[in-house]
Amino acid sequence: MSRLDDFQPSAIRHLHDLAQALRAREPNRRLIPLHFGESDLGTPPFIVEAGCQALRNGAVFYEDNGGRQDLKAALVEHYAERHGVRIESDQIVLSCGGVQAILLSMLGLVNPGDDVLVITPAWPNLVEAARLAGGTLHEVALRYDEGDDRFELDMDRLADTLARTQHPRLVVVNTPSNPTGWVASDQAKNNLVALCRQHGVHLLMDEMYDRILFDGHVHRTVLARDQDMSDVTVINGFSKAYCMTGWRLGYLVTAPERAVQLARMQEFVTSHAPSMAQVAAITALHEGEAFIRESLERYTSARDLAVRRLKQIAGAVVPTPRGAFYLFFRLPGSSDSIAFCRQLLEDSGVVLAPGAAFGRGGEGWVRLCFATQLEQLDEALERVADFVAGRSNDRS
Ligand code: PLP
Repeated sequence: MSRLDDFQPSAIRHLHDLAQALRAREPNRRLIPLHFGESDLGTPPFIVEAGCQALRNGAVFYEDNGGRQDLKAALVEHYAERHGVRIESDQIVLSCGGVQAILLSMLGLVNPGDDVLVITPAWPNLVEAARLAGGTLHEVALRYDEGDDRFELDMDRLADTLARTQHPRLVVVNTPSNPTGWVASDQAKNNLVALCRQHGVHLLMDEMYDRILFDGHVHRTVLARDQDMSDVTVINGFSKAYCMTGWRLGYLVTAPERAVQLARMQEFVTSHAPSMAQVAAITALHEGEAFIRESLERYTSARDLAVRRLKQIAGAVVPTPRGAFYLFFRLPGSSDSIAFCRQLLEDSGVVLAPGAAFGRGGEGWVRLCFATQLEQLDEALERVADFVAGRSNDRS
């Protein structure tokens, strides 16, 4: 089978395409799209202005494969100030979004036939990038404890899966998590690093949502653990914290010798991350704290509204997310999540992401991105509640 034949369309994209088709068919119908993972805020003006200024000042040429030195220096400073962690410039590779940092890392770390363990439900790229690199995938499902209202990483389950694989190479973890909102405790992260070391496997840690945390939860980067980066790679970027999705700017942090090779590899993919986005990102790091605080207040109100409204639906299971900007929940009738989302779209015009998109552990659940205006969210939640009530009336 060729690599092309092996590709499955993302179930989130499938819903998006259906929504587009519905829009074309019924142009006057008001759809409420909550399926994609981005805030509706848009990049704050001071960063936009920095990008425009960068263009006017000539940030229009090729750059180093691994990124601009001034942005790397700003990131080193940022990690020292915000996380109390010392990283070096030569550990950083800037890339076209976290998406590319993930793919580069996978291509660099995974050889065909290597076993890759992914903690699921997981954002689909983490799985598909491993597959592109030729890895053999193993899902390790998070455990949801309804009593505690939280997702937890089951270390025994992870250890068992590691012990059963022939060529374990990589464990992939995303926390704060898209889609579940799971935030791993420090203890869980320590255990994770220790377990990976014990088995001689690399840890790929996606910390893309590290600035979006609720209720005083703290996420300490795994980089804070120790200086040894030989078996850890961290993914992060500017899309979520600074609402810069379209600028395509992310990065990875890893051991210097690996960073050199991954930057070289980038030459053959996109050469480097966009120049003007890199310059604007320096301003984001220097001046972005107030924006992050304000957007967090907005996300908190949206999260609280969505949790409260969904919990009013009889039979709903609605874990409260501790981080990121998604709700991952179960509703009566959502056991086939794709069918449920399709029908919801047809009947109510609300677009959600089916849990099946996030791995086997996600089937039966649906994801909603709440980084949107409260009025729009409120209306969407009302429509969802009516939809579920309508279906249960039909059945009775
Ligand atoms: N990691 C996670 C968990 C994400 O959800 C996303 C985007 O949705 C990314 C990485 C990549 O973001 P970007 O490529 O926009 O930097």
